[in-house]
Amino acid sequence: MALSPPSSPATPALRTKLPAVGTTIFTVMSALAAETGAVNLGQGFPDFDCDPALVEAVAAAMRAGANQYPPMAGVPALREAVAGKIEAMHGRRYDPGTEITITAGATQAILTAILAVVRPGDEVIVLEPCYDSYVPNIELAGGTVVRVPLTPGSFRPDFGRIAAALTPRTRALIVNTPHNPGATVWTREEMLRLEALLAPTETLLISDEVYEHMAFDREHESASRFPGLAARAFVVSSFGKTFHVTGWKVGYVAAPPALTTEFRKVHQFNVFTVNTPMQHGLAAYLRDPAPYRGLPGFYRAKRDLFRDGIARTRLRLLPGEGTYFQCVDISDVTDLDEAAFCQWLTRERGVAAIPLSAFYGDGFDQRVVRFCFAKKDETLHTALDRLRRL
Ligand code: PMP
Ligand code: GLN
Repeated sequence: MALSPPSSPATPALRTKLPAVGTTIFTVMSALAAETGAVNLGQGFPDFDCDPALVEAVAAAMRAGANQYPPMAGVPALREAVAGKIEAMHGRRYDPGTEITITAGATQAILTAILAVVRPGDEVIVLEPCYDSYVPNIELAGGTVVRVPLTPGSFRPDFGRIAAALTPRTRALIVNTPHNPGATVWTREEMLRLEALLAPTETLLISDEVYEHMAFDREHESASRFPGLAARAFVVSSFGKTFHVTGWKVGYVAAPPALTTEFRKVHQFNVFTVNTPMQHGLAAYLRDPAPYRGLPGFYRAKRDLFRDGIARTRLRLLPGEGTYFQCVDISDVTDLDEAAFCQWLTRERGVAAIPLSAFYGDGFDQRVVRFCFAKKDETLHTALDRLRRL
């Protein structure tokens, strides 16, 4: 008997590995802003372009034929430039050969680090509110997510609660400073407390420092500054944030040799390599420290403009020490919950924002929303005019 294919072939049934995951709130709010023509202060990305010299450096690399696979760990000149930058800023020398790996943005770096070290049953502590990729990353590795809240309102670490969450099964803790969405910057004292807390443990640290060059009122205290943290840390950063090129997706991880070895085993079969001309362009551009040294001043001016404007609305300002985000309390303006308010604000008032509940596993609603001020001053003025009328 001749076999004939079924008329409507069915896709085999599958059980989702990430039942709680849908489209990210950043994509949802950007789509709504585009559909309604609202000023998009939701998703975190600049509405201005990068330095033309950086584009030229990448184009020059392409024209020079840097278009094939680079070394697996990254173009040596870029790894050297990253090592030089970390040493100049934080005083720790990472070996570009054994301790620095170039990644496809911080998102890949964090997933790869987690896949490299977390086994089924291991616990990983996240401090909520936290960036939305951490939890699904831990789940993909089979780890158990342990959620510890930052103090609501101030978004400062609560060391009592972190200490209480540490167990012999805690494989890793993820810290993010400067903090998205809380806009706080961990102090030297907080980093020292973290170092002391982790000292007697086997817990690794994933230190998400993608906003490292956006600390306004105090220096960014990288985990690489603290020997007891650096010895157990994957320090992650992203050129997307630093050079206004979020779409390029190039970042890096600095970690001691034993951690880097395991990281690269996964990286090798995850992306293998990161695009070559971007790496050469970034290496050339990093020779001049002025662009990243000037970044705090550049964003401090925007922070001040935006906060001064918000102070003249009925929204209540929360911390603004770092990152290009600003959270505000909406409770004097509306009875709506955060998500409904963000929808209403976008549709009816023409300004898109992100509900903070999106950064909590249980959807905790504290009547706070996040704006991104990485925008042209004219964009910020337009948004502030609209927010003043709330
Ligand atoms: N961590 C945090 C805290 C972020 O805000 C972002 C940016 N969305 C990332 C990681 C990811 O960075 P990248 O775009 O380089 O993947
Ligand atoms: N990091 C950006 C934010 O927090 C968004 C990145 C993304 O869309 N995944 O807004």
